[in-house]
Order: sequence, then C-alpha cells, then structure tokens
Amino acid sequence: MTTTPQTTIMNGTAVARAVVSRAAEQAAEFAHLAGRKPCLAAVIVGSDPASLTYVKMKQNRCRSTGIDSRVMALPTHTSTAELVATLHKLSSDTTVDGILLQHPVPPAIDERAAFEAIAPEKDVDGVTMHSFAAMALGAGGPLACTPCGIIRLLDAYRIDPAGCHAVVIGRSPILGKPVGMLLLARNATVTYCHSQTQHLSDMVQDADIVVAAVGRPNFVRGAWIKSGAVVIDAGYNPGNVGDVAFDEARSIASHITPVPGGVGPMTIAVLLEQTVEAAACNRTKDR
Ligand code: NAP
Repeated sequence: MTTTPQTTIMNGTAVARAVVSRAAEQAAEFAHLAGRKPCLAAVIVGSDPASLTYVKMKQNRCRSTGIDSRVMALPTHTSTAELVATLHKLSSDTTVDGILLQHPVPPAIDERAAFEAIAPEKDVDGVTMHSFAAMALGAGGPLACTPCGIIRLLDAYRIDPAGCHAVVIGRSPILGKPVGMLLLARNATVTYCHSQTQHLSDMVQDADIVVAAVGRPNFVRGAWIKSGAVVIDAGYNPGNVGDVAFDEARSIASHITPVPGGVGPMTIAVLLEQTVEAAACNRTKDR
C-alpha cells in the first residue's frame, strides 16, 4: 500500500531535535550562571531490560544536551519505604533539579506513594498529583512528557485541535487521561475509550484526531480511520511496533506518526526541556 500524496508522516525525530537544541542552549546558559550543569536524577528499581534501556537512552541524551545525569539503581526487592526515602533525599538535594522514577516499578511497590515522594518542583516527568492537578487546571508547571510531546507535535504541524473531535484510546494517568485533558484545553471535543468501550471502531470512525495509547501492537485498524483524520500513535510495543496498523492507516490519514520516530523522541525532548526549565526556575526561587 502506498502513501497518498496528501498524507504527512509526522517526523517526531526532527521536531524533537529542535526542542532539544533549544534545551541545550538553555542548559549552557544555566551552567554559565549557576556554575554547574542542570541535573536529572533517574531512579530505577529492578532489572527490567526495557527500563534499563530507556534509562540508558535518557542518560545519553542528557549528556549530549549538557545536562548532568545521575542514575540510582535499586534492587528489585526494594520496599516502598526505601524507595520513598531515596526520592525524598533527592527532592531535598539542592544539586538535583529534576527527578525521574522509571516506571513501571516492581508490583510489590506502591507506585503512587513513590511518585508522591517527588517534590513537585522537581517532577520533570509530570507524574505527581500536584502536576496532574496543575495540568488539569491549566496552572502551568511540568506536564506528563508524552502527552505534552504529542501536543507539541500537533503544534509543529500547525494542527489546531479546536472544534475537532479527538478520540483518545487509553486512559492511563501518565498518557491517555492527560493527553485528553490537554486536547480539551485546546478546545477539542474529547472522547475517551478504554477496555470497556463498546463499538470502539465506530467511535474512532468519527474522530478528526485519534490518539492510540493502548499498548497493543497494530490494534487500531486502517478501516476504523476516517478519511483525512490525524492519527497519533503513542504505542510502543516490542519490536518497535505501534498501536496503529501503520501500513493500513497511512493511506487514509491526513497526518500520521510513525513508530519509531514519532511520539517517542518527543517524550525525551520534553523531559530534557522540563529539566532545564526546572533548574532555571528553582535557581530563580533560591535567589
Ligand atoms: P496502560 O497503563 O497499560 O494503559 C493502556 C490503556 O489502554 C488502558 O486505559 C486500557 O483500558 C486501554 N485498553 C486496553 N485494552 C483495550 C482495548 N481492547 N480497547 C480499548 N482500550 C484498551 O499503558 P500506558 O502506560 O498508557 O501506555 C500505552 C502505550 O503507550 C504502550 O504501548 C506504551 O509502551 C506506550 N508509551 C509510549 C511512550 C512514548 O514515549 N512513546 C510513553 C509512555 C507509554 P482500561 O483503563 O480499561 O484498562
């Protein structure tokens, strides 16, 4: 199946490069003023290979952007109390600007309790209740990185969600729910779909913007997509496979994100950007 001339493949790698380049400039400016680089502390519990890869990748990106990266690797049997204590310590460490808890954490840990141990001003991954509430109220501060990356990608392609029907498939607290709220803030009419949704394909058929955040490879079929819809595939499944059957959908959509190279690079770019912003913001407060 070939891409129609009208279909735009949204290049998240290129858009992210521009975001990271600005973050690198801001990091250099911060280092000049503060006498140290901005610092992101990543905490990982256990040895899940995918999580280790993500942390390593984020560490490399930090380095190339002029951000110090500190990784705390804790054993799988770490208790919630021990993880909370580690995050509290990083929260009060004045040389740490941003904190990332790589998730999912092992099932024995209370993930919500751990997230809440991150100081809101260092929550550069946008996972705390404070950040979620601020996002929902449009009060500013760090946003969940993937949802923010999706909005930035829409902006980069001059796609205005106002008045559009946006269908978000997935309602996780870090992805589906916040991206729907950010689209609502941009005046889209938002429908959330989830595992209990009836007639999902009919819902998607009515969407001007579809965000797939399910975690199931090739779940959204081309036949579900309305002609000319914008298709954002946030899914990332083993083997670099998205949640949308790309080869089916790309001839129908007006815009579509590839996997890899769509939403993924935007997520990391926003994390770096928010780390540099947190550093600058906390420095201003300290003066
Ligand atoms: P999650 O917490 O597992 O949530 C999945 C959502 O999909 C849930 O809301 C679930 O509904 C819904 N769902 C499951 N089966 C469904 C079905 N048959 N029909 C409709 N909805 C269904 O996953 P997540 O953390 O949001 O991640 C989703 C995907 O995004 C994964 O592939 C993940 O790897 C990817 N991701 C990518 C990035 C990136 O940077 N690109 C970042 C984060 C996540 P219920 O609520 O009813 O269970």
